[in-house]
Amino acid sequence: MSARLLDGKALGAEVRARAGEAAKTLPGQVGLAVVLVGEDPASQVYVRNKHREAEAAGLLSFVHRLPADTPEADVVALVERLNADEAVDGILVQMPLPEGIDALRVIAAIDPDKDVDGLTETNAGRLLLGRRGLVPCTPQGSMLLAGLALPDLTGKTAVVVGRSILVGKPLALLLQAANATVTMAHSRTKDLGAVCRTADVLCAAVGRPGLLTAEHVKPGAVVIDVGINRVDAPEKGEGKTKLVGDVAPEAAEVAGWMTPVPGGVGPMTIACLLRNTVLAAARRRGLEDPR
Ligand code: NDP
Repeated sequence: MSARLLDGKALGAEVRARAGEAAKTLPGQVGLAVVLVGEDPASQVYVRNKHREAEAAGLLSFVHRLPADTPEADVVALVERLNADEAVDGILVQMPLPEGIDALRVIAAIDPDKDVDGLTETNAGRLLLGRRGLVPCTPQGSMLLAGLALPDLTGKTAVVVGRSILVGKPLALLLQAANATVTMAHSRTKDLGAVCRTADVLCAAVGRPGLLTAEHVKPGAVVIDVGINRVDAPEKGEGKTKLVGDVAPEAAEVAGWMTPVPGGVGPMTIACLLRNTVLAAARRRGLEDPR
C-alpha cells in the first residue's frame, strides 16, 4: 500500500486564489512589503517567489532590497516606515538576516497587526492564549494539509518532531487548539521511534534528510513533512542537487497520507502568507475576516 498524496501545490493554488478573490472585495489595494537584506541565494529565490505570487493574486508587492552591510538601525528604520505606510498591510522580513543584525530586534519593530509571518512576541502570545492574531505561515499551511486527510482532529494523537519558534512550537499549539493530543519531540527525546509510532498525525520539522523512516510511522498515519533539505543527487549528473524532506520516501509504504517534498508544505507557506496579508488588510479596514 502506498500513502495518498497531500498535494500542497493544488491546495496552495486554491488558497492563493481565495486570498486573491477576498482581496478584490476590500476597499483599496492590499499591499505586502518584503524586506530582503543581503544576497543569500535561497532567500533571493524565496523573495522572488513571494513577489510573483503576491502580484499574481492581485496584491501590491513592494520588495525592499538592502545590502548585507546595512546597519541594524537602518533595517529597523525601514520597518518603522513600513509600519506607518498606509499602502502596506503586511510586512515580512526575510530570514536569516546577515550576521551583525539581531533578528529579534528587527522582528520586535514590526507592527503586530502587519506581522504576516506571525513572528512577533505579540502574535506568539496571542496564539498561546488562543486569541485572534496572525499565525505563522508554515504551521498554518501544515494544518490545512492535515485537514485534507483528517478534517476533525478531535481526540487524535499528534507528534511534532522539532520545537523551533518558526515551525514546531506554533504547529503543536495549532494541533492542540484543534483538539488533538499533542507530543513535542526534539533532539533530546528518548526512543523517538516509539514516540512517533503513537501518532495519528506525524509532523517532521527538523532539517535532517530522511531522519524519520517507515519505522517511525504508525500504519495509516498522516505524515506532514515540513523539512526542506538540499542533498547531492549524483543520479541527476555530476554536481547536481535535489530537495528532500525529513521523512524517507519509503515511509509512504506505511503512512496513509503523506506530503511530498517538494510540492507539499512549501507551496502552502506562500499561500498562507497571502492569506495572512488579506486577513491583516481586512482587519485594518475594520472589516470581518474573509473566509
Ligand atoms: P530549526 O533548526 O530551528 O529546528 C530544528 C528542530 O529539530 C529543533 O527543535 C531540534 O531539536 C530538532 N532536532 C534536531 N535534530 C533532531 C533529531 N535528531 N531528532 C529529533 N529532533 C531533532 O529548524 P526549523 O524549525 O526552522 O526548520 C525545520 C525544517 O523545516 C528545515 O528543514 C527547514 O528548511 C524547513 N522549513 C520549511 C519551511 C517550508 O516552507 N516548508 C519553512 C520553514 C522551515 P532541539 O530543539 O533539541 O535542538
